[in-house]
Amino acid sequence: MKCIVNGTILLPDGPVCGKALAFENGRVVGLIDAAPAGAERIDAAGGIVSPGLVDVHCHGFMGMDASNGRIDELREMSRRMAKWGVTAWLPTTMTLMWPTLERCFGAIRAAQAQCLSADWAGAQVLGCHAEGPFINARKKGAQDGAAIQTPDFEKLRPWTDVVRLMTVAPEVEGALPFIREATANGVFISMGHTAATAGEALAGVEAGVSHATHTFNAMTPLTHREPGVVGVALSDSRVYCELIADTFHVDPMLYPLMVRQKGDRLVLITDSIQEAHQPDGPYERDGQTIIVNGIRLRFPNGTIAGSALTMDLAVRNFRAHTGLPLHEVVNMASLYPARSVGADGEKGSLEPGKDADILITDADFNIRATFVRGERAF
Ligand SMILES: [Zn+2]
Repeated sequence: MKCIVNGTILLPDGPVCGKALAFENGRVVGLIDAAPAGAERIDAAGGIVSPGLVDVHCHGFMGMDASNGRIDELREMSRRMAKWGVTAWLPTTMTLMWPTLERCFGAIRAAQAQCLSADWAGAQVLGCHAEGPFINARKKGAQDGAAIQTPDFEKLRPWTDVVRLMTVAPEVEGALPFIREATANGVFISMGHTAATAGEALAGVEAGVSHATHTFNAMTPLTHREPGVVGVALSDSRVYCELIADTFHVDPMLYPLMVRQKGDRLVLITDSIQEAHQPDGPYERDGQTIIVNGIRLRFPNGTIAGSALTMDLAVRNFRAHTGLPLHEVVNMASLYPARSVGADGEKGSLEPGKDADILITDADFNIRATFVRGERAF
């Protein structure tokens, strides 16, 4: 048994002081008064003991990307993101031609199996978030318009074990039957890159949409007579709302509004891409230029091209702009994202029986140590 002592332990309902967190065989045992004799003692040195973070929308960083379809890159990204507190993630593919996507799904399927073995050091792969290709060209944002396709569940059927979440525009032809079939086969559907009216978005939710992709970005805005996709995402309690809390994808003035509106349906994500954490300058990819300027990544026409956010920074940003207690913000980066893709049985909180995905941080949520399934990953 291992015990983390001398820390404030974040549970979903609030922080607990004066207890130790015990874990064994990769799983959380629970809170105990003191480390028993023979247990390995890990000193949190007065810091925070947090559940590991879950990123359900991350393409890549440092020149690696889920859209490259390479298992070695998935392994390396999983290893590196542990230092940002991520213990589970959904490698996220861009809108690509279907044969290319299938190669990516194949690599992610292999990673999903390999990450349970002892030689996988880092975040666990919970499956794929496919951002497209069944989206609306009018709201393609950073996606490749030439690869956009009409929804067809028969294409997805062989991949329902690996595609856990899929971004779809509910208003495009064939989307509603696709959403019904996909959700019946265990795939969670997120509305995004969509030009839907509020009525069309609501029809999507009735068909099974339970998630909104980077809320406010690449979707119809909220106006007082046409509430748009944003209006449905914010007002319908069946929908989890992703947020890129890098302070410029969405103005931080709206963070408290999102908290009041969504509460336990708010999901912090990075949407980071392979140009993230690279030196400033222009980068070429598939004939497109992306200009890196610090944490801002843009196409030459000014369109935002994803982010260079990390999950620990998202927590710090969101807390700074809302004043919420830390455990509530951490829930938005751990428990709620896990729940949004049906993974909260094993992930997302430090409750007995769940995977021992644990962080030790300082009071400002800078990561000092990361454990994945009980093993030190950072
Ligand atoms: Zn994305």
